[in-house]
Amino acid sequence: MANPLFDRLFGRHIGKTTPFLHLLDGRTVSHSEFLDMAAQMANAIVAQGLRPGDRVAAQIDKSPEALALYAACVQAGLVFLPLNTAYQVEELTYFFEDSACSLILCRPQNKEELEPVAGRIGAALMTLDASGAGSFADAAKGQKSTFETAPRHGDDLAALLYTSGTTGRSKGAMLSQNNLLSNAEVLAELWEFTSDDILLHALPIFHTHGLFVAVNVTLIAGGSMVFMPKLDIDSLIEWMPRATTLMGVPTFYTRLLAEPRFDSDLASNMRLFISGSAPLLADTHVQFEERTGHRILERYGMTETNMNTSNPYDGERRAGTVGKPLPSVELKITDAATGETVPDGEIGQIEVRGPNVFLGYWRMPEKTAAELRADGFFITGDLGKIDDDGYVHIVGRNKDLIISGGYNIYPKEIEMVLDEQEGVLESAVIGVPHADLGEAGLGVLVQKSGHTIDIASISEKLTTSLARFKLPKKLIVVDELPRNAMGKVQKNLLREKYRRI
Ligand code: ATP
Ligand code: MG
Repeated sequence: MANPLFDRLFGRHIGKTTPFLHLLDGRTVSHSEFLDMAAQMANAIVAQGLRPGDRVAAQIDKSPEALALYAACVQAGLVFLPLNTAYQVEELTYFFEDSACSLILCRPQNKEELEPVAGRIGAALMTLDASGAGSFADAAKGQKSTFETAPRHGDDLAALLYTSGTTGRSKGAMLSQNNLLSNAEVLAELWEFTSDDILLHALPIFHTHGLFVAVNVTLIAGGSMVFMPKLDIDSLIEWMPRATTLMGVPTFYTRLLAEPRFDSDLASNMRLFISGSAPLLADTHVQFEERTGHRILERYGMTETNMNTSNPYDGERRAGTVGKPLPSVELKITDAATGETVPDGEIGQIEVRGPNVFLGYWRMPEKTAAELRADGFFITGDLGKIDDDGYVHIVGRNKDLIISGGYNIYPKEIEMVLDEQEGVLESAVIGVPHADLGEAGLGVLVQKSGHTIDIASISEKLTTSLARFKLPKKLIVVDELPRNAMGKVQKNLLREKYRRI
């Protein structure tokens, strides 16, 4: 029996001396060096007594070794559970207990504080630091660099990935081998990745975007990555002339644009810039094209489903949209009350179905039943519409919808108008409790550097662009919006902060 995910992504590169990772210090890790390291790790993990299906939780810094751990888990049939490096002990305790993991990999400095939790749940605890050293590396070093791949089925669990926790407590999404593989195959073909591609990889690898989209697509195509420990504009600029593609969250693009050294010459070897995880401002899209001649390709996905839609590689990449459903993904817009599909152009909840859609939430049967329909459609929690040409527009999250005096207000619509105003860099519109209306809109604005925001004049201008019921009842200016590691605006924090305004 085979192991489809391992065979397709990794197995076929065994023994190849082709480059896989280019490191900032000039070293290159070949496919075969990488896979030898993964096999040694797989041996070390199995030596701890883990068996296929067991969970391996890792809160470690990004490094070639950290990535090899993913390959090791796939090869040994273990369930990989990467965790955001920003999480603190209390949060980690929840993930370790909830997942009932058998092995925890942590940074050496966290070992002592994590020992009690590991002991409680009976998990082994080993360390790996940013340079790839630690007790786990030591254990792997003595092992053989071949490993007999564990047989797995396409429906077997490959990863347990916790959602970003933007709207509440993170949920563990159960992703099968086929979920990951089918998506990587579709994306590599759609975005025309080949073995000649060199991807600038500056995303974290504890999230779908940096781990599955970036890494799996590169592996399927047989290309290589400039593997950066974190986003660093100087490194991006230094390596861009040698690279062909970049995957980033919108912050990557606004930060590149803020850099005078970034121009069309620097990007002349690049064939594709991809954005996702959070909405890309139409303004960024336009400025980027003016500066480089490239149109950023925006796509849409989430932990539970991998990627669902993408703007076309050939064809019009439309600013402010996330493109069309991927081949093999069905997407519909439904009425939240009835579940019926609404006519094109109308706003409703986004539902998706396809081989990419997860198996359910880990140990949350009720939540799974509420969001994953029996017919296979997953209710994403996002609201959107489909335009006349089939492009999907996201208007916000269900949980961010403001209901004011009985009217629905979609924050994105108001934010787009606010973003156009003099001196406004960006904005977030949230609902806050209101004695009379139930909820009222609050506009939180961030100032462009070197500009001032005139609240009175903006309020005045809004009255000519928006219906009265949509007007934010109040506008305030802040230094910056709270964002999580993936650049997502944390509206729950804003709602909490301005609850009594
Ligand atoms: P949680 O589910 O725990 O509240 P989260 O939804 O932010 O957190 P992720 O799975 O990391 O966790 O993020 C998926 C969400 O990110 C999508 O549901 C969508 O709201 C948003 N998103 C992803 N890509 C885009 C995009 N291109 N434009 C707008 N929003 C996007
Ligand atoms: Mg979510």
